[in-house]
Amino acid sequence: MKTRTRLSAWVYLAVLVGIFTLQKTWGGIVRSGPIPTPDQAIGDLTRATSLERSTFANDKAFFTPIRKPQPGDWLAEHDEPGQTVLEYRLGLSALKPTPEQKALYMLPLGQFEPGSPSLAKLREFGAAFFGMETRLLRVTAVEKVPAKRRIFGRPPKRQLLSTDILEWLPGVKPRDAYSIIAVTMEDLYPDEAWNFVFGQATLQGGAGVFSFARYDPAFYGIKRDEQTQALILKRSCKVLAHETGHMFGLMHCVFFECLMNGSNHLDETDTRPMHLCPVCLRKLQLSSGFDLLKREEALLKFFEANSITDEAAWSRRWLEKLRSAK
Ligand SMILES: [Zn+2]
Ligand SMILES: [Zn+2]
Repeated sequence: MKTRTRLSAWVYLAVLVGIFTLQKTWGGIVRSGPIPTPDQAIGDLTRATSLERSTFANDKAFFTPIRKPQPGDWLAEHDEPGQTVLEYRLGLSALKPTPEQKALYMLPLGQFEPGSPSLAKLREFGAAFFGMETRLLRVTAVEKVPAKRRIFGRPPKRQLLSTDILEWLPGVKPRDAYSIIAVTMEDLYPDEAWNFVFGQATLQGGAGVFSFARYDPAFYGIKRDEQTQALILKRSCKVLAHETGHMFGLMHCVFFECLMNGSNHLDETDTRPMHLCPVCLRKLQLSSGFDLLKREEALLKFFEANSITDEAAWSRRWLEKLRSAK
């Protein structure tokens, strides 16, 4: 487990390094002093509309402060500063989709056999979550991708070199793409020294590659049951939204239990909610500009259609609150 923990840390760090590089261009912010409180991170709402005030309020009926990390958890091993809405705003101009580049693209790499997460459902979730046109490109055969591969592990399995895929993606990125995300059931590795990597993204290039292979219990030799399909879909939606969130410049959340919390292992991923806290939602809305009510309605529809009952119940209550604020 330790190796896996360290490896998953590596991938998230890979994304973070990009963000820190970007942050340097935001005016070289270096925050001193303690981590801001959740209310400070949300920022001033006095000039916001009543819907925005209701949406971004630190409402304890909906949002839980981030729990104290246990040994092995992400924050037990990473000293992260968090990112307030105000800090995010300083780099916002570089993070907004433009009229020319306003769509998200998902590129399936290799086959998605029965038992894999549904590409149509992943697309639908991406569109609802980011409130943006999200398009599915045609499947590209693994043989057509100029990525180095190796046979690794017990039992031996094929792995693709993720950095090669990241270099290749900008060349197949449609002109109107804000970002392109390759999704695959192939296992990935980032470097000869590593066993595997869940995924990797470049911020400047707006490209990412994520493998769902290790979200299937069958990968570890655990028998699938009737809950497995729903579990795989949930995990895959979470990683898609979390990693694409990084591509919108969102750093790991240290304020609430939130989809943007860092995660060191699958248990941490599984206990993380599928929704954003007010800090992260406010940031994403500043970038994407979606209608807050329409977004939540689309997410509720998705949760209900896919029997994601806990999130559907949360979303239903949340929508009720937002509608009453209008
Ligand atoms: Zn992350
Ligand atoms: Zn958050």
